[in-house]
Amino acid sequence: MFAAAGQAAILANPSPQLRSKLSSIPPVTPIFHKIIQEFADACASGSSGSYQRWANQVGDQSYTFNETLPYFQRSPQFTPPNYAKRGAGSEVLYDQTAFSSNGGPLQVSYSNFYQPVSSFIKQAFFNLGLQSLAGLNSGKLLGFSEFTLTIDPQAGTRSSSETSFMQEAIASSTLQVYQQTLAKNIVFDKRKTATGVNVVTAGTEYTLSATEEVILAAGVVC
Ligand SMILES: Cc1cc2nc3c(=O)[nH]c(=O)nc-3n(C[C@H](O)[C@H](O)[C@H](O)COP(=O)(O)OP(=O)(O)OC[C@H]3O[C@@H](n4cnc5c(N)ncnc54)[C@H](O)[C@@H]3O)c2cc1C
Repeated sequence: MFAAAGQAAILANPSPQLRSKLSSIPPVTPIFHKIIQEFADACASGSSGSYQRWANQVGDQSYTFNETLPYFQRSPQFTPPNYAKRGAGSEVLYDQTAFSSNGGPLQVSYSNFYQPVSSFIKQAFFNLGLQSLAGLNSGKLLGFSEFTLTIDPQAGTRSSSETSFMQEAIASSTLQVYQQTLAKNIVFDKRKTATGVNVVTAGTEYTLSATEEVILAAGVVC
């Protein structure tokens, strides 16, 4: 993948001609992508081919892109680009059918600031012979497009797990959040059933007991 200024291109097995064109591009610090990352994450799907391979390998065709799409559509609420704010020449191809109007609460849209360098990068991708795609959310990734971002389209701030899923859960359930609290270990009974978690908040250790189950979601250790 080649990504810059919100534009991304997937290059699979580039031809020798394209390979030599690419090698003539001087290496640049991906500073524009980094700036966007500070505010919002890219929101893109895998390719339909990769899902088909997954389905074939596990022998279950319910893992194909089309079969899993309705599940992915539950999380994002898509808002088309705001051209009044982005300005002339910032038009972007996108596929609204990749999203559902019943989705949410994660806000997915485009940056209201269209980086001037983006139009040159688009032209560069065209000159390399790459195809312009209608977004990167429809299972087609061979070509280039502008990323959709996890971003509040009005405020232009990041739509995060906290602002979307967690705030909705707090508002609509009895979810209790223990802030600044570190999980030390899971507590198991004699039958090796998880019954709670030992935690520490501001130096005070205590046990949170589970009434139903313990779900471990502490991310990945790299
Ligand atoms: C630099 C970077 C860029 C990325 N960009 C993208 C992107 O553009 N698009 C995309 O889709 N994905 C992106 N990803 C991947 C995505 O962020 C992860 O796949 C996703 O956040 C994983 O979610 P998670 O809930 O499993 O874990 P996390 O989001 O890591 O959440 C785990 C949480 O558990 C907390 N925790 C850990 N240990 C304890 C403990 N002992 N006690 C209490 N709390 C604990 C952590 O503080 C953290 O808040 C990126 C990842 C990185 C690192």
